[in-house]
Amino acid sequence: MIIGIDLGGMSAKGAILSDGKLIGKSRVETFAEHSPEETAASLARLCVEVAEKTGRGLDAVQAIGIGSPGIVDSATGTVAQWANFNWRDVPLAEYLKRSLGKPVFVTNDANAAALGEAKYGAGVHYRDSVLITIGTGIGSGIILDGKLFEGYRSAGSEIGHMVICRNGEPCACGRRGCFERYASARALIARTRSEMEADPDSALWEFAPSLDKADGRTVFSALKKGDKGAKRVLEDYISALGEGLLNVANIFRPQAIILGGGISAEGETLLAPLREYIYPRLYVSEVYAPMAIICAKLGNDAGLYGAVEYAFERL
Ligand SMILES: [Zn+2]
Repeated sequence: MIIGIDLGGMSAKGAILSDGKLIGKSRVETFAEHSPEETAASLARLCVEVAEKTGRGLDAVQAIGIGSPGIVDSATGTVAQWANFNWRDVPLAEYLKRSLGKPVFVTNDANAAALGEAKYGAGVHYRDSVLITIGTGIGSGIILDGKLFEGYRSAGSEIGHMVICRNGEPCACGRRGCFERYASARALIARTRSEMEADPDSALWEFAPSLDKADGRTVFSALKKGDKGAKRVLEDYISALGEGLLNVANIFRPQAIILGGGISAEGETLLAPLREYIYPRLYVSEVYAPMAIICAKLGNDAGLYGAVEYAFERL
């Protein structure tokens, strides 16, 4: 048995994977003001809880896999940097190993999610897949020939910070025109708001009575009413998302691009125009090398599946 942990800024979830299903699911709260040692202690308690819930106890656990936010040096299980928790060079694997006496493997949370989707979710039929998680920013994980690609010191795979518009919008990373400044949920919401401001008669207002009520779903709801403004917003968004995904496709040419995050719940409303944008613009035709563009399947559990899989592959 392997325990997977999905570490987050509000809580950490844990579970064991048995016959392809997550069992013994548990969670603990996490706090930015806690020291890394305190957080590691909560994770150790979480492991004990998960193991006990399955009725077999910690003795039956072979290893622990963790998906952590931030920059993670997976070779050593060290969180090199996690800005929200002010972590720097935190030897997370070492802390847990010391208290639990089990091997512990840590990877970045976006990588864990990609591995989870690839092995247990939307990507099971493909040897090469890229998971793009659309949220506040853009998270990404790359699976090549069935293996997670992390780059040197696990510092690669930051597709959200690929520039799609030179001298474009400033990004927190220091550059301008990054993919996530145009294709994240935050960017979609900002674009929705500017359309609302420009047109007081837009049907967008029916679904967001004030600007601050606009969210990632607003444009899709108004679109179903045939609203012209919503159509403009989505066209704009699809072209930004499409350009970034075309770059991904031209470089890696995965068999599947998998979209995750809240917006992926829109399914075909998002996928159909995206395919229509991407397929004719691919450098190598879709007929020669078919590439599926699909939605993630595992939702918030992708990271847990992936954390287990990561430890399993490293054991
Ligand atoms: Zn950036």
